[in-house]
Amino acid sequence: MRFDGQVVFVTGGARGIGNAIVRRFADEGAVVLFTYKSNESAALRLEAELLAQGKRAKAVALDVCSHVQTLAAIDAAAREFGPIDVLINNAGVTEDGFLMFMEEPSWDKVIDTNLKGAYNCCKAVLPSMISKRRGVIINISSISALAGALGQTNYCASKAGLIGLTRALSREVAGKNIRVNAIAPGYIVTDMLEKVPERVRQQFVEKISCGRLGETDEVAKVVIFLASSDASYIYGQTIIVDGGII
Ligand code: NAD
Repeated sequence: MRFDGQVVFVTGGARGIGNAIVRRFADEGAVVLFTYKSNESAALRLEAELLAQGKRAKAVALDVCSHVQTLAAIDAAAREFGPIDVLINNAGVTEDGFLMFMEEPSWDKVIDTNLKGAYNCCKAVLPSMISKRRGVIINISSISALAGALGQTNYCASKAGLIGLTRALSREVAGKNIRVNAIAPGYIVTDMLEKVPERVRQQFVEKISCGRLGETDEVAKVVIFLASSDASYIYGQTIIVDGGII
């Protein structure tokens, strides 16, 4: 129970990698607040399942693109459960296309969700973390940020932005005992990867040293490690979890 009573806020927690992260923190005794954007039924199902197991969790409706909504949602959560101890910026979208054909709404949607969403959440949790002189922030980036993926200029820019945000913010708040790190997953089996054609997924697998796609829990376990005191000397880093992509 490494997170007993700690308040953890996970964006995009109803499905995929976020869902696995929520489950791991709930198993470890945290009060897990997780957001959903549109899939209310999946979010409420997860909440009910965890509550029935005697765990502590609450689904929160939130579009992380909205600065005002994010500040209000985190403020309301903190009033009800106490200030956020751990923030996981996991919400993310793709909207692929070659840049010469990519229209502005696709660019804006991906940057606003993946990068500005993280800024919004960090801004909302930092005042209380700074005054408590304690906190952890983990940003879910992507291996695409480092490799550059075809048809994903918007996504790669947003995820590379998260790595820069992680390093810079870490320098700003490390002295306040707040650890900011990132994780760059490779190809993980979720709805996001389902959008990729089977033929392309096969090409991905051929590049993975261990010969298979990743499972959501294999990312969640690294999140838990990074959020725990076992990672007490890790600041501003990006940990790659990709099965050894070559
Ligand atoms: P997913 O599509 O299953 O989940 C994304 C989550 O983000 C969903 O719960 C969705 O509701 C939420 N979300 C989207 N827009 C939002 C918004 N505006 N406000 C609030 N929530 C919003 O995808 P996933 O694969 O579980 O992705 C989770 C994170 O991991 C994303 O940041 C993604 O970029 C990253 N990632 C995924 C992979 C992969 O292979 N699946 C690889 C590298 C990085």
